[in-house]
Amino acid sequence: MDLKELYQEIILDHGKNPRNKKKCDGFNKEAEGYNPLCGDKVHVFLKLDDNKKVIDVSFEGEGCAISMASASIMTEIVKGKDFDIAKKIISEFLTMIREGSKITINNVSKNENVTMMSLSGVKKFPMRVKCATLAWHTFISAAEEKKETVNTEKID
Ligand code: ZN
Repeated sequence: MDLKELYQEIILDHGKNPRNKKKCDGFNKEAEGYNPLCGDKVHVFLKLDDNKKVIDVSFEGEGCAISMASASIMTEIVKGKDFDIAKKIISEFLTMIREGSKITINNVSKNENVTMMSLSGVKKFPMRVKCATLAWHTFISAAEEKKETVNTEKID
């Protein structure tokens, strides 16, 4: 199996069997995101403890396969990490999606790195970039308690 097939397999798997697609128990932060270009909607639920560690994270929503797979992948990657670390990882993810760079941050395992890289193909489809980044922006918005809905039209 080449890398492209592996990446496709990962996205399909997350699309068919989304991880953490529910309201997680005891969430204390939440935010909504909307991608008007495609119609994707995502609602992120987050449980942060006093040390800003991501105890639990989940999502609900509907949208295209990429947006839902990406939301599922996001929850898997940030769960259990400190928010400050999660933020760094997300920033690297967003750069990877936009510029096609590699993920080099060492706060993720090899496996997590491959899972994130599975979405790298969207760079070739500018319309899909916002589908792939929606949940990640929405996670940050939830953690930072921004009240406004994340709208991908208003984000680079
Ligand atoms: Zn979409």
